[in-house]
Amino acid sequence: MGFGTLFIAMQSLSLSKEQLQEMTAYVHAHAPLEACGLLAGKNSQVEKIFFVQNQAQSPVRYVMDPIDQLHAFEWIESNDMDLLGIFHSHPAGPETVSPTDIAEAAYAVTYVILACVDSEWRTRGFWIENGEFREVSLQVNE
Ligand SMILES: [Zn+2]
Repeated sequence: MGFGTLFIAMQSLSLSKEQLQEMTAYVHAHAPLEACGLLAGKNSQVEKIFFVQNQAQSPVRYVMDPIDQLHAFEWIESNDMDLLGIFHSHPAGPETVSPTDIAEAAYAVTYVILACVDSEWRTRGFWIENGEFREVSLQVNE
């Protein structure tokens, strides 16, 4: 009887401290409504943040403005980058993905959630696939 080897592909997404602060300030300014945007870059390193209007104007859901989204996608393509992530806020928590987030996840990217818990913004990343999710580690660089 041999030993099986279990490989766990731990995905990660890297962003700078400034980018994290910028996103946090943006979602904080829009609270109590949810705010959203896109993260683009190369090789899991975020290089550009797009702030996208939340068409839903809701405290519990987001619908990305299709025109903002289209402009972002065009920029990403013409700058030879990849869409790495989609972020949105949960101004009243929770820190994890909601059933709606799982149901509406349409891209193979990291879903970054900024949640306000006990008056403090916390950021976590998730990979959502086939109705399931797992954590993606966020590397915040100085
Ligand atoms: Zn959500």
